[in-house]
Amino acid sequence: MSEPKKLYIKTYGCQMNVYDSERMSETLGGQGYVETQSPDDADMILLNTCHIREKAAEKVYSELGRFKGLKAEKPDLKIGVAGCVAQAEGEEIMRRQPLVDLVVGPQSYHRLPEMEARTREGQKALDTDFPEEDKFEKLKNRPKAKRGPTAFLTVQEGCDKFCAFCVVPYTRGAEVSRPADRIIREAHDLVERGVREITLLGQNVNAYHGAGANGDMTLAGLIWELNKVDGLERIRFTTSHPNDMADDLIEAHGTCEKLMPYLHLPVQSGSDRILKRMNRSHTAESYLRLVERIRAARPDIMMSGDFIVGFPEETEEDFQATMDLVEQVKYGYAYSFKYSTRPGTPAAERPQVDPQAADDRLQRLQALITQHQREIQDAMVGRKVSVLFEKSGRLPGQMVGKSEYLHSVHVSEADVAVGELRDVRITGSGANSLAGTLI
Ligand code: SAM
Ligand code: SF4
Repeated sequence: MSEPKKLYIKTYGCQMNVYDSERMSETLGGQGYVETQSPDDADMILLNTCHIREKAAEKVYSELGRFKGLKAEKPDLKIGVAGCVAQAEGEEIMRRQPLVDLVVGPQSYHRLPEMEARTREGQKALDTDFPEEDKFEKLKNRPKAKRGPTAFLTVQEGCDKFCAFCVVPYTRGAEVSRPADRIIREAHDLVERGVREITLLGQNVNAYHGAGANGDMTLAGLIWELNKVDGLERIRFTTSHPNDMADDLIEAHGTCEKLMPYLHLPVQSGSDRILKRMNRSHTAESYLRLVERIRAARPDIMMSGDFIVGFPEETEEDFQATMDLVEQVKYGYAYSFKYSTRPGTPAAERPQVDPQAADDRLQRLQALITQHQREIQDAMVGRKVSVLFEKSGRLPGQMVGKSEYLHSVHVSEADVAVGELRDVRITGSGANSLAGTLI
């Protein structure tokens, strides 16, 4: 039997890319590839890229340059670029970096096997189309191998919102929802393989409107269907847009027992002037009312958010409005970024904020978020939480998992296994995790 070929995938960016990398690896498994953790012994290297952070394309070019020596030693090594930088740069990647054999955009992964075969014939392969066919249906099924207790499952892709700072509508294309029956089938398959918690993914996951048995289904409808899957214990979803937070989804947070009390709901800014310029189509007030309604449905829900500071024309007053909103919501987690220009997006052409002022605002915002995060985490001490154990910890006998609120929790008792869901009493709060004892 011939030796399997080795595939090294490096994944950047969001959870959707993590999911895509898994699916690409499974698909290339059909071409005889097994994954390796090192580029040095790979027959194929795939960079699954993200275009969200600053100078993303430049970072990919410099990463590719590092493979020059490897390719010289091993001329058969194939190098590919996938993900949003592949979509945005397209042919330019091959022009600037002749080492690259393959460029594949996020909507064309199902064509990877034929593209890989072409590279083995010495050709270059490029595909950044937005094809009509459903890539997930064409991607090879997930193999039946056992896996860890948590998994991502993409249910919706793309975005039609066109926030003025964001490249996603250009790199991932228009909003598309997968049919409900395929998602449910995939969930059953994941559960058979040991998964107990599924996070439904989408750039705008709560805009989900996939075909169901009786017409289009909402995200809440899909969650209720998944709630019936035996063996599946926890459901999460990310990332949501405030404008798509429908009544049935808010209600599900109060009534659906497998839906976890955690919600990532990016707001970006607390200033209505800036929100308007961002083309967010919600106000700070409407966001705050929404949070109130969600908390009325599920009082203990953990809120998380995304923020951009230093958006073009942001004044100190605008920034203060963001600080005020954070004070009111008190996020358990939040991701805050300094605005950086994305060529081709409307905000890229506008007058930029002084970088030092933006740095200073970012520091102040992060300090406030960290303070709230700590307070919320410390307030867990003495409480009972349920923990899904995911792995062993750094210390002997230690096991680590996540609470329903997504806090990392570690216990020192050895009599708990990966995949077990157990009640834990929280006994201490550390820098980034909680300590507890099994109940
Ligand atoms: N769809 C989600 C939403 O509506 O908020 C998030 C999508 S985006 C992949 C993740 C986060 O990256 C955004 O919420 C935003 O805070 C940040 N982001 C996107 N473009 C950015 C830019 N040009 N500069 C700084 N941060 C940016
Ligand atoms: Fe980007 Fe999210 Fe806005 Fe869509 S809704 S454009 S993904 S930030």
